[in-house]
Amino acid sequence: MAIRPEVLELLVCPVPECRARLELRDDRLVCTACGRRYRIEQSWPVLIPEEAELPEAAQNQS
Ligand SMILES: [Zn+2]
Repeated sequence: MAIRPEVLELLVCPVPECRARLELRDDRLVCTACGRRYRIEQSWPVLIPEEAELPEAAQNQS
């Protein structure tokens, strides 16, 4: 994995009302608060709320 730990520490959830820490899990960055999953493209995290995968609980509501 090309994302360095010191870079990962600086990343937060891009959702304005969230802004929680992210953790690396299965090649995704997972928000520790809202559970959104951000994919990583070419070693760079795609921190766009509209592009995020929602947690399964949220997907079931739609
Ligand atoms: Zn979040």
